[in-house]
Amino acid sequence: MSSAPRGIAILGSTGSIGRSTLAVIALHPERFRVAVLGAHSSWEAIVEQARVFKPATVVLVDPEAAGKARAALGASGSAVRVESGPEALAHAVTGADVEIVMAAIVGAAGLASTLAGVRAAKRVLLANKEALVMAGLLLMEEVRRAGAELIPIDSEHNAIFQCMPAGYLPGEIARGVLRVILTASGGPFRSTDSASMARATPDEACAHPKWKMGRKISVDSATLMNKGLEVIEATLLFGLPESQVDVVVHPQSVVHSLVEYADGSMLAQLGAPDMRTPIAQALAWPERFASGVHSLNLSQIGRFDFEPPDHARFPSLGLARAAARAGGTAPALLNAANEVAVQAFLDGRLNFTGIATVIDKVLQRLESSPVRALGDVLDADAAARRLAVALIEPGSGARA
Ligand code: NAD
Ligand code: MG
Repeated sequence: MSSAPRGIAILGSTGSIGRSTLAVIALHPERFRVAVLGAHSSWEAIVEQARVFKPATVVLVDPEAAGKARAALGASGSAVRVESGPEALAHAVTGADVEIVMAAIVGAAGLASTLAGVRAAKRVLLANKEALVMAGLLLMEEVRRAGAELIPIDSEHNAIFQCMPAGYLPGEIARGVLRVILTASGGPFRSTDSASMARATPDEACAHPKWKMGRKISVDSATLMNKGLEVIEATLLFGLPESQVDVVVHPQSVVHSLVEYADGSMLAQLGAPDMRTPIAQALAWPERFASGVHSLNLSQIGRFDFEPPDHARFPSLGLARAAARAGGTAPALLNAANEVAVQAFLDGRLNFTGIATVIDKVLQRLESSPVRALGDVLDADAAARRLAVALIEPGSGARA
């Protein structure tokens, strides 16, 4: 690692991953300089972060929130530039003062800025799995073409990245790898019956037993759609067909994922369930440094359990696998329908089990088509959103 501090842009800085990233960076002030902080509208939180980390630029997509942040920072004599609008986010990551981009915006909203970081050949730390699921091979192709570094932050994919042989290239299958095995905690409803799941409230769905995360990914973990998105993510990052990406439920959430090699070896990465570990791994790579995470006491943990996922109670996992096999725009359709359905569930407009029903209907009615350009992905995303909204809207006659 060079001695000059490396400039970093943190997109989604006010979220769970963004805050964990700043916590790791605070441990290594001599190595990193925060160049950009970006978020949607949480202006008070980002003003606080800007006072501590002194970035050159703050971006808030929401113009009103950006105005408030500008006023607050201006009043305290800060020299930080405050910009607004989604284009400002994509523009800010391409600056010469940015070497590393933490892509930690949630959902499709993160696609443009993630892609901008890739095209500008930055080291992109990818938490925003929805961007990869949507754009798929197109994004991986951009990574290769630009020569960008893409390091997965999702704990499972980061674990696999760590277990891959040296010289891993994004999107290429490593020699001797038979399959990867993603572990899943099982979420809050691992042993809940279907009838109770149908009545689950947003707070129950977001009460994850092992991880403290944003609400969207928490609901995805409760439906197992998160694992479904991660299967698609793994096929793209590691160049594997869906049939070579397995899922096993591991309630302790200590084994973060595994790689199986041709000689029968299985390599796993273990650690406390704390996102500061994958974040620090990706920030320091190929070196290692402290993350602030406590070390594991294996004898206190005592045992590791593994069990197969229950596809009957968690149909979302199967829907995602089907989308992975279909390819083309199917993952973008799946992702968009899921985003709309999860938001409706969080708003109290759809019950928990309705999430998978909506996604299933969207995938049945909208056919997957080949992806030739980004426009194909964005069109599929928009069509799936329209249909999902219509299915959920009361009185539309199409309620899930
Ligand atoms: P979060 O809800 O806590 O934070 C989301 C961040 O994105 C916030 O800073 C918010 O301001 C910003 N944002 C939301 N909508 C935006 C928009 N339209 N434009 C610009 N910014 C917007 O979410 P999180 O849990 O930190 O997750 C972020 C991403 O990381 C997701 O893609 C998630 O799947 C992935 N991820 C999270 C975890 C975790 O432990 N939290 C683990 C693995 C992967
Ligand atoms: Mg994960």
